[in-house]
Amino acid sequence: MASTLTSSPTSKAPALQLGKYSLGMGDRFAHEAEAQLRACQLALDAGVRITPVWNKSNREHTIIGSRPESVRAAAEAAVQKAGWKSGFHIDADHVNLNTVDNFLAASDFFTIDVADAIGKPVSQTDTVAFIQRHPELLHPIRLTGTGNGPLTIPGQAAEAAVHKFLFAVREAGKTYRHILEKKGSTPFITEVSMDETDSPQTPAELLIILAALSDEGVPVQTIAPKFTGRFNKGVDYVGDVAKFEAEFRADIAVIARAIEMYGLPPTLKLSLHSGSDKFSIYAPINRALRDFDAGIHVKTAGTTWLEELIGLAEAGGDGLALAKEIYAEAFAHREELCVPYATVIDVDASKLPAPSQVAKWTSEQYTSALRHDPASPHYNRSLRQLLHVGFKVAAKMGDRYLRLLQECRGPIARNVTANLFERHVKPIFLQQ
Ligand SMILES: [Zn+2]
Repeated sequence: MASTLTSSPTSKAPALQLGKYSLGMGDRFAHEAEAQLRACQLALDAGVRITPVWNKSNREHTIIGSRPESVRAAAEAAVQKAGWKSGFHIDADHVNLNTVDNFLAASDFFTIDVADAIGKPVSQTDTVAFIQRHPELLHPIRLTGTGNGPLTIPGQAAEAAVHKFLFAVREAGKTYRHILEKKGSTPFITEVSMDETDSPQTPAELLIILAALSDEGVPVQTIAPKFTGRFNKGVDYVGDVAKFEAEFRADIAVIARAIEMYGLPPTLKLSLHSGSDKFSIYAPINRALRDFDAGIHVKTAGTTWLEELIGLAEAGGDGLALAKEIYAEAFAHREELCVPYATVIDVDASKLPAPSQVAKWTSEQYTSALRHDPASPHYNRSLRQLLHVGFKVAAKMGDRYLRLLQECRGPIARNVTANLFERHVKPIFLQQ
């Protein structure tokens, strides 16, 4: 059925459009929306409009024991209190046909994750039919602004890419149509993510994926490919920055071309997952956004929970004691906490301090080990990554944790806002 659809030659603007710049924020315990929104307000004061998007995956909801409705409620309260008039969205993060239903009522943004379907085979007939329907892919494709020549995709490479990605794209189509059917006339934003997989997608593969998404009739506004290099949770980018930059710029150029060629939404842009703390690639990203006049969506979900811990430790007294207790518990359960995140963290157990040692730490020692300041000799990336995945420990504490979040509000809010604005918004989005 999908193969009978043809792409429309004119771009159609979706009913609900995502702003050019948007920031995905996670709020594990639904207490920080106001402090997070403050980072977008500071950006607006500096002349840059960034749409806040609160996202939480099914995995996080399951660990915390929360519902998508709580994300919307917290966001709405923050938006109202702040008098924020520039829009916001609630992202059902990394959903598929099995998990999306829980999110239908509360979300207006859906990240359809089809990474697991990559590489599932399609028939040779389907592959050939796709290539025949898209002869343009086999001609040199002009890309504007990369400084390189046109993109050329050899026939064999095109076939291999179709074979590798067509099944996944069809899955995205199925999930999209399911959401469409359930949401009826209520508009929503569609993201397609393929980042949680082993090998990065090339710009040529990205173009073929976008052609296929157009065939499926998916009005994709953000696409999250896997980029070259490692995007571990809560720590800096690991990889070849120059290679990342070249690929990132080519991807932006491919997206601009795909909008023209396949009638995809004019708002279509890249989505950067595990985008927090990737300090070494922010300057290249900022340059590319300016050079191409392109937009971006950056997901920074897990980093806010670490700022809660930093705020608790900074507050001293009961707050510091709780932060130490959370570390001790996370240390004791380090293996089981790390397993679900094995592909996106890299904890060196030999670098983790003993809980008995941490028990003697001052506020300053705790915060300087955890805070992501690469210049600080006390910063400990293994401790940071363990605590990043350790939010389950705080979730188990229930009210005791939430009560201290209230009691230590001042230092927590200050750290949440400063982390997002100073370390993320400024280097990524603001004029340097
Ligand atoms: Zn992701």
